[in-house]
Amino acid sequence: MKTIYFDNNATTRVAPEVLEAMLPFLGERYGNASSMHAFGGRVAKDIQAARERVAAFIGADPSEIVFTSCGTESDNMAIHGAAEVLGPQARVVASRVEHPAVLGPCRRLRDMGFSETEVPVDSAGQLDLDALREALKDGAPSIVSIMWANNETGVVFPMAEIAQIVKAAGAVLHTDAVQVAGKLPIDVRSAPVDMLSLSGHKLHAPKGIGVCYIRRGTRVKTFMLGGHQEHGRRGGTENVPYIIGLGRAVELAAAGMEEENRQIARLRDKLERGLLATCPDARVNGDVRNRLPNTSNMSFEYIEGESILMHLSDRGICASTGSACAAGSLEPSHVIRAMGVPFTAVHGSVRFSLSRYNTEAEVDTVLAELPKIIAKLRALSPFCQNG
Ligand SMILES: *Cc1c(COP(=O)(O)O)cnc(C)c1O
Repeated sequence: MKTIYFDNNATTRVAPEVLEAMLPFLGERYGNASSMHAFGGRVAKDIQAARERVAAFIGADPSEIVFTSCGTESDNMAIHGAAEVLGPQARVVASRVEHPAVLGPCRRLRDMGFSETEVPVDSAGQLDLDALREALKDGAPSIVSIMWANNETGVVFPMAEIAQIVKAAGAVLHTDAVQVAGKLPIDVRSAPVDMLSLSGHKLHAPKGIGVCYIRRGTRVKTFMLGGHQEHGRRGGTENVPYIIGLGRAVELAAAGMEEENRQIARLRDKLERGLLATCPDARVNGDVRNRLPNTSNMSFEYIEGESILMHLSDRGICASTGSACAAGSLEPSHVIRAMGVPFTAVHGSVRFSLSRYNTEAEVDTVLAELPKIIAKLRALSPFCQNG
């Protein structure tokens, strides 16, 4: 059975060009960039070239790029590192719909005595900017972490405006830009955040490589102590092959973005329109005017997202749901819940997320299969009023 992969917000396939760029560094070019000899020195130059590519990709200076092990590490580094500088009187502000990699460190800081505020979103999943202003209005030292785009709904937050609000309050701003990278242009000059997280495996580089952009002058306590690597911001011998791979991945993403987005959005819209037309009681979750071009989050009322995913999986189709099945009770997604999606739809949410490797034929297969699955599950659902 052929796999149809519509789960690209969870992870993406490594681009063949990326793999090709990496392979020499898993083979004969194994030098350590910190060595005195020329064999290591050449690797240092290759790392620097990748750093320059990543910097150009987001409008930063190469000296502001810190390579990490993943997006989660970047989020932890930024939030903990800034909070530690501000001290325990400081406040931590995040949105209610952040990824667990942001909510985790924020809640840990709350447990350590920091005050913590989680800013709500509206029914379209858009950030309540007035609530953000309100949270910062006393001007107390604060670290704010607001994602650029949501991984479950694809809703894009107005980062330039958020930066304006946060900077006006004198607070430090971090953004989790993991989902935006490669899908929309990022420029830290027009959206002047202080720190920003990226993850390689969400844009066709391998799992296990991330970036934390730290604007020059931003004070962050170093978390990974050890060697002098990454301008002393993160000790540890560089993950050379993965850094090289990420450098190639951002180059590909930048070169192809506009054209690929047009194609991806066209397929996404065809899928969404087709499902709305053929599945009764279906809805799209999130602000469709401000959304990533590759993401569709849909609810099919009266049925469980998990059941839909199982049936899709049996047909080789990969999608996802935000909800996790915990200890026998089905916990709905915190993102969908924060949007106040009605009870009958909150459990039936399914996310389709596309990439440059998806085809029209794959969309047609899902359009042929999913309505049948929905009809079958509805017939079994105790909640379904239409039998
Ligand atoms: C995937 C993801 C992360 C985590 O990145 P890893 O590299 O898997 O640790 C963080 N934030 C968002 C929004 C994500 O989608």
